[in-house]
Amino acid sequence: MTQLTQRAKQVDRKPMTLLERIYLWNILKGMMITISHLFKRKATIKYPEEKRTFSKVFRGVQILNRDEEGREKCTACGLCAVACPAEAITMEAAERQAGEEHLYKEEKYAAKYEINMLRCIFCGYCEEACPKDAIYLSQTFAPSNYGREGFIYKKEDLLIPHPIENPEAYKKALGEKGGNA
Ligand code: SF4
Ligand code: SF4
Repeated sequence: MTQLTQRAKQVDRKPMTLLERIYLWNILKGMMITISHLFKRKATIKYPEEKRTFSKVFRGVQILNRDEEGREKCTACGLCAVACPAEAITMEAAERQAGEEHLYKEEKYAAKYEINMLRCIFCGYCEEACPKDAIYLSQTFAPSNYGREGFIYKKEDLLIPHPIENPEAYKKALGEKGGNA
């Protein structure tokens, strides 16, 4: 029969020797490989006691930004939601009322803002699309959860801590990527 490819291999059908039949040599070879791994540097870490340092370009959980006075920067324009390929972002806009200038930077703000972390693929398009530097991907990943509801992150979960009321937490959340606050 004509072969369609050159990948076919002839099978060696000669009878096994005594050494081959007791498999001792093969077991020893396998054990040697296992033992050699004991002395190699471990690929795993003991999380959560140990934590890995992420790359500077790591894209983690989104953070909704505030300005230096603590006002929310998001103006609920919806560009992040439009840019999101996973359709993970939803929001509801509201008008800023008189006396709320210390809360919201723009005249329109996101009364509700949600990201479905089960859909998010951490592409960073939302960060790129935002004209207000109001959202960025942090250096933290989404913690595990037993229920799906726990992965719907609401505005309260996403908002960065207040820079004046909680400066330490604000600085920590800002990290290296959010330096545009
Ligand atoms: S990182 Fe990508 S997938 Fe996730 S919310 Fe932003 S745009 Fe959508
Ligand atoms: S996060 Fe940015 S892009 Fe998204 S709605 Fe707010 S201001 Fe617009």
